[in-house]
Amino acid sequence: MIPYSTQHIEQDDIDAVVEVLKSSHLTQGEKVSEFEAMLCDYVNVAHAVCFNSATSALLGAYTVGEISEGDEIITTPISFVATSNMFVVLGAKPVWCDVKLDGNIDERGIEKLITPKTKAIVVVDFGGKPVEMQCISEIAKKHNLLLIDDASHALGSSINGKKIGSFADMSIFSFHAIKPITTGEGGAVLTDNAEYAAKLKLFRSHGIIKKALWNSDMLSLGHNFRLTEFAAALGISQLKKLDGFIQKRTKIASYYDKRFCNEKLFICQQIPHADISARHLYPIILNPELQCSKEDIFTQLLACGIGVQVHYKPIYQNSFYKEKFGEISLPVANDFYKSEISLPCQHKMTLDDAKFVADTFLKIIHTYKLKGCSF
Ligand SMILES: *Cc1c(COP(=O)(O)O)cnc(C)c1O
Repeated sequence: MIPYSTQHIEQDDIDAVVEVLKSSHLTQGEKVSEFEAMLCDYVNVAHAVCFNSATSALLGAYTVGEISEGDEIITTPISFVATSNMFVVLGAKPVWCDVKLDGNIDERGIEKLITPKTKAIVVVDFGGKPVEMQCISEIAKKHNLLLIDDASHALGSSINGKKIGSFADMSIFSFHAIKPITTGEGGAVLTDNAEYAAKLKLFRSHGIIKKALWNSDMLSLGHNFRLTEFAAALGISQLKKLDGFIQKRTKIASYYDKRFCNEKLFICQQIPHADISARHLYPIILNPELQCSKEDIFTQLLACGIGVQVHYKPIYQNSFYKEKFGEISLPVANDFYKSEISLPCQHKMTLDDAKFVADTFLKIIHTYKLKGCSF
């Protein structure tokens, strides 16, 4: 099976982890700070605070951003559930903004959703493609709203040379096994705001600061959301390889682009020339007449050893959200879910793998071309 995404662990990654396992500190040593400094340097922001997942990092960002009971959060339904779960935990309410066919929030729809209760805009750079940051930052500034970027797909993405992670008030990255780089499980919040960074560090570790000798003080309620030292060592080793990983994924994606550019049965995600996408996903959007064949197409691809996936079921279609917030239906997000398939695009693939995926996909999809759907 060629998975849609996978980790790439080499001997030097293993050596880096083993070295820490043999050292005095498995947690709360120097490696996490070293990884944080490298992340700051790579993205060009002042502060990075690592967490044990992007989910806990999101909870940290929403908490120090003072999102609370009764707040409305304008966000995208096309994401992993954690993006909204973590502010719902704090009592806030999702206000869904529809997306575009590239999977990103439709910036033209944001402003009309703003009410006196709106506290924040939370965006996701879908598949690694940057959202329209300039436009969205201007809206956030104009209405004095917090802008949070769940950039879990987008470590290494950039707009005009400026890295994703340096635009929003706080940006969250995931180091889950199959994200752009991995620490097994892990995440981070990046910010230029020193106050947020200090509060995030407290939130991550019981709200406790060390004073002198045995004397510590607990200043605020906190959790244990710390990253281990050996996970950070893996992160350091992986971050050094990130640009190489992205180059390889870009090669795979460009090959698909070339093979698919004249196809009329589906569209691909277009990345503007001035942008770089980390290419965490390679999403394709089937034409409406193929939507009813998607299940068959998906099953056939799996049977051929092509590990496709669908990203994502709109968050509001999940039972929990329907029960808590009622039935919601946004036309493009609904359609996107019916049409999207993510093809394998990862840094362990060869061009031969990509050719096999493209050949097989085109062959399968053309057998459904004439079937159509009865609407
Ligand atoms: C993976 C992912 C998360 C959750 O990341 P974890 O590190 O697994 O907690 C959150 N948001 C998005 C968009 C993701 O893709």
